[in-house]
Amino acid sequence: MADIATVGVIGAGQMGNGIAHVAALSGLSVVLVDVSAEALPKALATMGKNMDRQVAKGGLTAEAKDAALGRIRTGTEMALLADCDIVIEAATEREAVKLSIFKAVCAVLKPEAILASNTSSIPITRLAAATDRPERFIGMHFMNPVPVMKLVEIIRGIATSDATFEAVAALAEKLGKTTAVAQDYPAFIVNRILVPMINEAVQSLQEGVGDVRSIDAALKLGANHPMGPLELGDFIGLDTCLAIMRVLHEGMGDSKYRPSPLLVKYVEAGWLGRKTGKGFYDYSQTPPKPTR
Ligand code: NAD
Repeated sequence: MADIATVGVIGAGQMGNGIAHVAALSGLSVVLVDVSAEALPKALATMGKNMDRQVAKGGLTAEAKDAALGRIRTGTEMALLADCDIVIEAATEREAVKLSIFKAVCAVLKPEAILASNTSSIPITRLAAATDRPERFIGMHFMNPVPVMKLVEIIRGIATSDATFEAVAALAEKLGKTTAVAQDYPAFIVNRILVPMINEAVQSLQEGVGDVRSIDAALKLGANHPMGPLELGDFIGLDTCLAIMRVLHEGMGDSKYRPSPLLVKYVEAGWLGRKTGKGFYDYSQTPPKPTR
């Protein structure tokens, strides 16, 4: 398989702009496509700001920053992706959205191009089956924030070829990431282990085993975690945590993955964590104050 020189990214949200950021900084040409024209200048501004932070810390020169931003083309048309060697889909986590994207993008992609999805929870084999290239389809699960987090989980679908796997592993390394290889089971490795822990913390809160501060302090100081599980749930987004628990519950058919009723209640209240200003903590106060 030819070397990857041009990377397409679909979705310019928090993950897509991070993937475009690291790809451009590692010298690749990047094409960033979003259905929303407003999302594109916003993503470029976010990348510029995040790269400025790297420049300020001395990890990047101003020239390298400008050169990287100069390697990124943006637009709303899938046709822009025609010359890409790989396209990484990082659009909204809804299966219908992803399937319609794959249909549109497969119509313009080179036959030898690889298609990867950054999905957190949708089975790779099922997504691959809806494309014209299941052997060149793979899961490439980046962590948030992409420029900071070192891991990429690589998930092979049942039909993914060895050549595709090797090309994607080499790309992840070029982006400065370390890979973990996961089989295509619900929520893969990181979320399969992490999100039930957060759910258990919420259930402990519901049962009154401890309050918010005690639960977070217990895991930070007692298990050496950099963030407490409730703080981490707020950071990830409680709606995302709930969606992943539902995928595990349904996909594994095991009651041990039952979402905590209190987690459901926070999501129904619209208390989704940092992004809405309130979750297990209220972020309108400094330092954030527990909401119960
Ligand atoms: P986001 O909401 O920040 O961004 C999604 C972007 O996709 C938006 O800009 C939206 O306009 C765009 N989009 C929607 N429909 C589209 C279409 N038809 N064509 C092109 N663009 C379209 O979401 P995000 O947090 O960046 O998540 C994106 C993907 O990454 C999801 O699959 C998610 O599960 C996965 N993921 C997220 C995280 C995380 O912590 N946020 C971590 C790992 C993986």
